[in-house]
Parts: sequence; structure tokens; C-alpha cells
Amino acid sequence: MSDEPRDPPLGPSTIAVHGGEPSIRDDRSLTTPVVHASAYPFEDTQELIDYMKGDRERPAEYGRYGNPTVERAEAKLAALEGGQAAVLMSSGMAAITTTLLAMLKQGQHVVLTRDAYRKTRVFATQVLARYGVAVDIVEPNASAVIEAMRDETKIVFTEAPTNPYLRVLDLAAVVEAARARRIKTIIDATFATPINMQPLAHGVDLVIHSATKYLGGHNDLLAGVVVGRAPLVGAIREHLGMVGAIPDPNTAFLLLRGLKTLALRVRQQNATAHRLADVLADDPAVARVWYPLRSDHPDHENASRYLSGGGGVVSFELHGGLAAGTRLVDALQIPKLAPSLGGVESLVEQPGLMSFYELSVDEREAIGIRDGLVRLSVGVEEADDLEADLRQALRVAAVAPGR
Ligand SMILES: *Cc1c(COP(=O)(O)O)cnc(C)c1O
Repeated sequence: MSDEPRDPPLGPSTIAVHGGEPSIRDDRSLTTPVVHASAYPFEDTQELIDYMKGDRERPAEYGRYGNPTVERAEAKLAALEGGQAAVLMSSGMAAITTTLLAMLKQGQHVVLTRDAYRKTRVFATQVLARYGVAVDIVEPNASAVIEAMRDETKIVFTEAPTNPYLRVLDLAAVVEAARARRIKTIIDATFATPINMQPLAHGVDLVIHSATKYLGGHNDLLAGVVVGRAPLVGAIREHLGMVGAIPDPNTAFLLLRGLKTLALRVRQQNATAHRLADVLADDPAVARVWYPLRSDHPDHENASRYLSGGGGVVSFELHGGLAAGTRLVDALQIPKLAPSLGGVESLVEQPGLMSFYELSVDEREAIGIRDGLVRLSVGVEEADDLEADLRQALRVAAVAPGR
């Protein structure tokens, strides 16, 4: 498919299937071949010299610098995000750490929003600190982020929606303030997917995804991606060539295959999750529900502005704390107890026992992780079946043992 802008623009499902793909391949295969090669020989010395001068009409010379299957996945991801370039890495954390290491140096400052993926926060506060980079962690709202900006600030790093409370900050306000101070904005939009949000269109500099989640979508791969303007993505790719957190071609193939159904899957997950959020909100066993497109979510206004779908994750707090959450999780028949999200299989977890297990109750509460909190990632099972299962598990959760 050509990269020329279309009028009218192609829809997300069409881009998911055809974006980034040549209309006819040299070998005529309909799908992308998996290229297993660590090196890509030159015809002769003249081709080598031309290549070194910057004539890039051939594969990179060595597997750490590129792979044809990986490049197809990158082209499709760039098309889905409406970005100039994308670089694929071996995991979401590889994408986050490689990007931050590529862009930061000693003496600089990062603003990170609270409610961030735990390992992102650990990397920022513990590892970056060792290299002389200061980090401030602030509430996920535009005024807190803007207030934390200072002369040394190089990067604002945020997530949307955040985990587990699905916060959505005012991107336009953050971008405007950051640009005025020459600060780069990076958003981990794993929970949104390019189907529900287009951060680059709002002026964000880089979008990062854990492709392990919705992009791969089948709970069978780990990968991460960074999308943005070509010079910045190119600098990160240079750094990747050194640190080496590259994906392998089989993973890129699985990702390409998963991406073709991204729009289908995410729309179904949006619809089911919203429906289950409404069921939860009406249930007497439930103290509170967080779903970005429900009017009772604290960021409902921003969510309505920036999200075209609320996503497949619903977080909720049960009366009866951790024990009630455990009864619910153990009574659910369809969702599996596992720490991931975004795939075709529904998954459920209690953040207090999984993502934040090493903290005491007080420490968890201090960072806002409530005891009765449950996070449900809705898959693509039949919505009726998921609703019936949830309703029976809520009855089990509501009855304290021995009563
Ligand atoms: C899972 C996740 C990551 C880390 O991605 P991996 O692929 O597991 O390395 C980063 N950010 C968010 C929001 C995630 O959900």
C-alpha cells in the first residue's frame, strides 16, 4: 500500500490489514515471509561502498541493525499511529529503557506521571538516578505535570489510560507547555491502542506500546514499539543497534498476524468492557468502578476528548477488601488469573497481590492502590458469557465465609 495520504483517509481496519505492506511482494507471497538471517551479503565492494554512503535500497548488513520481517511490522505500526517511523524492540520495557537512555544525559530531568507501569517507575527512579538524571513523579493531570517542568527538564513521560485507574490527562495542554520549553513528550499508550487514541495527532513526540498486550493481542509474544518523527526514531534505532534489545523475526511475524485483527478485537473489547463496567457499577458488592468513558470517571471529560473507545480494561473496588477480591477472582470461570492484558483471553488480577505484591498495605494505600481493587482485562469471548460469569462471581464475593 502506498504511503501517499488518501482522501478520504483509510479506516483503521483497512490500515491494520494492508498498512505498511507492499501491494505485491517480489516473491508474490500474500503474507510477509519470515526472514532468518544474521547477515546480508553485498554483491561486491562497490555495493558495500554505496551502502555505507547512505544508499539504503537494500537490507541492513547485519541482523542487529534490521530485519526485513521486522521492518514490515514497523511499517504497519507507523501507519496505524499515523507516524513517520517506528522501531520494534524485544519488549515494552526494552522500548521504554532504550528510548530514555538514548535521549537523556547526566544533569537532565524527567517528569513521570504516577500510576505508571511499575517497572517504568523503578527504572526511572532507581536506574536513571544512578546516571545523574533526576525524576519527579507527579499526579496524572496536566497542571501537576506543567508545574513540575523546570529548566533541566528534557522529557515528560506519561501513560494513557494509566494503570490501574485509567487516568487520561489533557494531552494538548501538556504538549503546548512542553513545546514552549523544548521538552519532548512521550506517551506509553499501551492501554489505548492506536484504535482508541492517536497521540501523534495531538502533538506528542513519541508513542510507545508494549506490543505484548493489544497489538500482538494473543498472549503469545513479547515486543515493544516506539513511533514518531523519523529523525528522533532514527536516533533511538541507532542506540538500539548498540544495546541490542532487538525482536526476532518470528515474533515480528506473529505481531504482523495479530495486528491484522487489531481494530476488530479492540472494538469488541471496548464494547464488552463498557458493558461489564456498567454491570459492576450497578452491583451492591462493588464500591467503585473506573472506566474512562463512564461519566463517573474522574477524567471522563479528557477521555471523551481523546479516546474513541474506552479500552478493554475495567478496574473496580469491592466492599470487603482483599478477601472479597480474592473470592471474586477465584470464582470467575472464564477470565484467568494472570498479570497481562489486552489479549483474546480475558485476564483478571488483584493489583495488591500481583503488580504491587512487595509493598505493605500501608505503602500500597499511600500510592493509591486500594485493598479491594480488581483489574479485569476483557478478551474477545462472548459478552453474554463474560457477563453471566461476572454476575455469579460477584455473588460469591458478596458472601463473607462463615456468615
Ligand atoms: C506491560 C506494560 C509494559 C511493559 O511491557 P513488556 O512488553 O511487558 O515489557 C509497559 N507499559 C505498560 C502500560 C504495560 O502495560
